[in-house]
Amino acid sequence: MAKKEFNQCSFCGRSEKEVNMLISGLSADICDTCAEQAYQIVKESLESKHKSSLGIDRAKLPDPIKIKEYLDGYIIGQDNAKRYLAVAVYNHYKRILQEKSDDIEIEKSNIILVGPTGTGKTLLARTIAKMLHVPFAIVDATVLTEAGYVGEDIESILTRLLQASDYDVAAAERGIVFIDEIDKIARKSDNPSITRDVSGEGVQQGLLKLLEGSIVNVPPQGGRKHPDQKMIAVDTKNILFVCGGAFDGIERKIAQRLNTKVVGYASSMKNVDIDRENLLQYVAPQDLKSFGLIPEIIGRLPILTYLDALDKNALRRILTEPKNSIIKQYIKLFKMDDVELSFDLEVYEYIVDKAIEYKLGARGLRSIVESIMMDAMFTIPSEKPATLHITKEYAKEQLEKSQLVKLRNSQ
Ligand code: ADP
Repeated sequence: MAKKEFNQCSFCGRSEKEVNMLISGLSADICDTCAEQAYQIVKESLESKHKSSLGIDRAKLPDPIKIKEYLDGYIIGQDNAKRYLAVAVYNHYKRILQEKSDDIEIEKSNIILVGPTGTGKTLLARTIAKMLHVPFAIVDATVLTEAGYVGEDIESILTRLLQASDYDVAAAERGIVFIDEIDKIARKSDNPSITRDVSGEGVQQGLLKLLEGSIVNVPPQGGRKHPDQKMIAVDTKNILFVCGGAFDGIERKIAQRLNTKVVGYASSMKNVDIDRENLLQYVAPQDLKSFGLIPEIIGRLPILTYLDALDKNALRRILTEPKNSIIKQYIKLFKMDDVELSFDLEVYEYIVDKAIEYKLGARGLRSIVESIMMDAMFTIPSEKPATLHITKEYAKEQLEKSQLVKLRNSQ
């Protein structure tokens, strides 16, 4: 290797004296200006690569088994929903890539997930979006109202998606929208009444055009549309809609249907044992109709699947197993202060028991761990011990001290 005679930037040739800083490598040097330029070039090239990856490459599209494996890394249980979602997403992208040369047109496969709150519906949709690197937006169906009434216009759903894609319309048009609490816009009663049902059936009607695929004028800032606002046209043809809802009480509709079907196909199922403890697994489109969704909406959400309630075992696994599980996150937080955090296995059981006792489900796990770790997070960064081990006694003491318990006791 030739010995360098004097220090100069190997890219622009300026000497050490002419630049702010010279960084030396093995046989070359680079000045601060050239390093900055190189950084910009790398950044721009990576960004353009990312953009083009939105034009999906068939060969790179993960197959349903791969999609499910990916979901397994983040979501505990819910196998049925994962399988349905994996197939739906795979077919959705096949549909986007389909040849337009023949008469067969693969139709859109929007999804509806039925399951108790806090069982992973949003997490499933969010994880899929992350895997596919597409923009993702969550909207709450309860804030939507028919145009002209107090509340948000239905088009504001797409505003969220545009915001998630930094107003890159092409990216938004391939995104995923999760519409939460779809059950709350169920028709209030079977009898059409004189008063308009503006937050129920009215919204369902409004959603139809979004779900089926059409060009929608979207107010860029959301909220209410007003006449002189500039609109952005968004084609919803390739946007995947995932709807979720708890559908409280739908089990009754399912049970009714299962009990009354005595003729035809169902009679052949007479001998099949029905698991009455977990009726949600038999959910069918007609149950959604009995619940109050209009048939047109049900028709545009052809993929219907369910999520199981989370039992103790599932909660225990959620605490430690997912790739970014709560416990792994805390271990990482402490590691950043060079503290090795560990827990007695009993602590996990204790946290799960408390989450069940407070009826907080999976959502409660984080707040319980947060309460247990609060004091330590306050003092440890200054004390910096090499290790911190959490025992059940410590966890109990901290939790009892915490706000959470106070809140509960004050109720
Ligand atoms: P919902 O069904 O109401 O949409 P979420 O997906 O928002 O529920 O779940 C709330 C939180 O609970 C998630 O952010 C996640 O931390 C946790 N969680 C719920 N279900 C699961 C699951 N099956 N696997 C892993 N974490 C879960």
